[in-house]
Amino acid sequence: MAIPSPVTRLSAEPVLGVSLAHVAILRLDRLDSLAPGNKRFKLEGILGAILGACSARSAEELPIRRLVSFGGPWSNHLHALAAVGRERGLETIGIIRGDAGAGDTATLADAARWGMRLVNVSRSEYRRRNEPDYLAAMQRRFAPCLVIPEGGADAAGVRGCMAIADLLRAALPEARRVVLAVGTGTTLAGVAARLGPEWEVTGISALKGAHDLDGRVQKALQSCCVAHPARWRIRHDHHCGGFARVSDGLREFILAFERVHGVPLDPVYTGKALYAVHRLLASGEWNAAEPVVMVHTGGLQGRRGFPFLDLV
Ligand SMILES: *Cc1c(COP(=O)(O)O)cnc(C)c1O
Repeated sequence: MAIPSPVTRLSAEPVLGVSLAHVAILRLDRLDSLAPGNKRFKLEGILGAILGACSARSAEELPIRRLVSFGGPWSNHLHALAAVGRERGLETIGIIRGDAGAGDTATLADAARWGMRLVNVSRSEYRRRNEPDYLAAMQRRFAPCLVIPEGGADAAGVRGCMAIADLLRAALPEARRVVLAVGTGTTLAGVAARLGPEWEVTGISALKGAHDLDGRVQKALQSCCVAHPARWRIRHDHHCGGFARVSDGLREFILAFERVHGVPLDPVYTGKALYAVHRLLASGEWNAAEPVVMVHTGGLQGRRGFPFLDLV
């Protein structure tokens, strides 16, 4: 997947007293798609796996024409799935976590407009989304279909994300330090798998206390049999209060960053990843003269859930 102008190099103009002059941003948010970002790469990997399994040559020839997956009312994953369905002529079904008071979101309105069938389930039913019995029941209920895990977090999703590393290498061959936001660790695993040990990939967890992530990434890397992945580490201390929470510091950073550099961020993932870079440079833990590449994983549709941000 090609991206027009894939890299933004930041100017030396400081943000809240810190210059990000050696920071470059890989703009997956500029992918030409209804729903750009990393979720799109995972879904390409997942579609690629079913194409490979049945030797079809294009999405139009797939024997499975219905994709089912799970997400919350602001899910970037369901948004991207609905977009892929629309763009590829596939049927999509979103099983939505029924959050009290969430109602109809702009995310689900887009998904519905692109043809996704929305199925609301209770929070207690939603908790079963990874249980084999429940998945088998969903498989039967919507057969013939492919059931995709929440967040596109499977081995094919990891393979799809390897293409992000190819973009990185092509656009910034001299870079060595990569930073990206982590939810399930699928993207980190794909990127680290494709880069060699001369690269260092730092994942910024968007969740509080999700220490099982390290094991999940480890397992994902083992399952794709990569002998020498990039050196990688997940930082668990930049979640700003927890998943989809926004601290005062994060809000102030995003507004200041956007004012200075004009690159829009989302508060759930990319804002936290870049805020972490800002803090690591400010504290001197990272040398400000060494280049850093932040992967902008998209998610901008979710800004509509945060009234302090302008629409982009
Ligand atoms: C889902 C998402 C992530 C996290 O990706 P994982 O592969 O689940 O770790 C990061 N950024 C954005 C914008 C996302 O939507």
